[in-house]
Amino acid sequence: MKANLNLGSISGIKIIIHWTFFLLIIWIALQEINQGGSTEAVLFNVTLILSVFVCVVLHELGHALMAKHYGVQTKKITLLPIGGMASLDKIPEVPKQEFLITIAGPLVNVVIALVLYFLIPVSYFTEQNITELLYSLKKFSLQSFLFYLFIVNVGLVLFNLIPAFPMDGGRILRSLLAMKINRVKATQIAVSIGQFIAVIFLLIGLLYNPFLVFIALFIFIGAYGENQMVHHLAILKGHKVEDAMLTQITKFNPNDSIQDVIMTLITGTENDFVVIENEEVKGIVYHDEIIKNSQDKSLLIKDIMNSSFKLIDINTDLKKVYELTHSEKNNFFAVVDNNKLVGAIDLNNLNEYILLQAKLEY
Ligand code: ZN
Repeated sequence: MKANLNLGSISGIKIIIHWTFFLLIIWIALQEINQGGSTEAVLFNVTLILSVFVCVVLHELGHALMAKHYGVQTKKITLLPIGGMASLDKIPEVPKQEFLITIAGPLVNVVIALVLYFLIPVSYFTEQNITELLYSLKKFSLQSFLFYLFIVNVGLVLFNLIPAFPMDGGRILRSLLAMKINRVKATQIAVSIGQFIAVIFLLIGLLYNPFLVFIALFIFIGAYGENQMVHHLAILKGHKVEDAMLTQITKFNPNDSIQDVIMTLITGTENDFVVIENEEVKGIVYHDEIIKNSQDKSLLIKDIMNSSFKLIDINTDLKKVYELTHSEKNNFFAVVDNNKLVGAIDLNNLNEYILLQAKLEY
């Protein structure tokens, strides 16, 4: 689904609103209308939700800018109905860095809450009479708006600090543990605690709040994926591209016909191909491009190849390639030794290598 809204970039980071987010806005508006709420009430609540999500974006920017400080780029920040998500190129393995990048998010909400605290009339905090307080909160005034926003930011801090890996609190827990014990163990502990909390979220969610069900699923899937990644990276440590690369690959010339590559695709198991001319890598033909252009038999390889590609040196750490396969759109790379093509590496054979190494480990 490509109905996501791109809001533009801040400091090179794309801000994207996921299409499901608009369902949330419609849902809130409809609920308010259903309850016989005035136009004023609908506007108040929708504006409040939008402001909350501005706070969420600022929270994510806190992570992203701290990550940038440590040389880690953030591709995009996505707004989902259940919250924001900053897509970092990688998670730093140095515990202190992960700790600071993670804590930077909730700290942004602490600062917002502090600012709001001084903007809100003291009476909101000192009012002893609950009926009186509820009455003033019912009025759609700027003060009550700021008060709600204050509560939400305090809530965001508390909620994010729940140690349910990969939520912020869980990451903080993992990074603190990783200062004392090895990272694989630290992650396993954080993941177990996270999945336990996810089960509780799921139960509460099924009874009271569907959003918690989504959050529980997010924690479950996220925790599983990252646990696996940390384990894989540990397996690959110390191994070089040379150990795992494909050496028997079919190469093409820029002037070969698309039909040649289609034939190779059908008759063999390779999916992506390196294009060379005079021993020099000129481009990569990716599987998707071959399929997309397969109807036009007059095309040449040079018409469909991608010439902005990353070359991998044979002595590169496999860990680095693993990270690349997860951060780059395409995960097939030509491997060179002194600028001469010697093979290729892709996610499939990397995964195969991981399986073989894991077998040796146990
Ligand atoms: Zn966060």
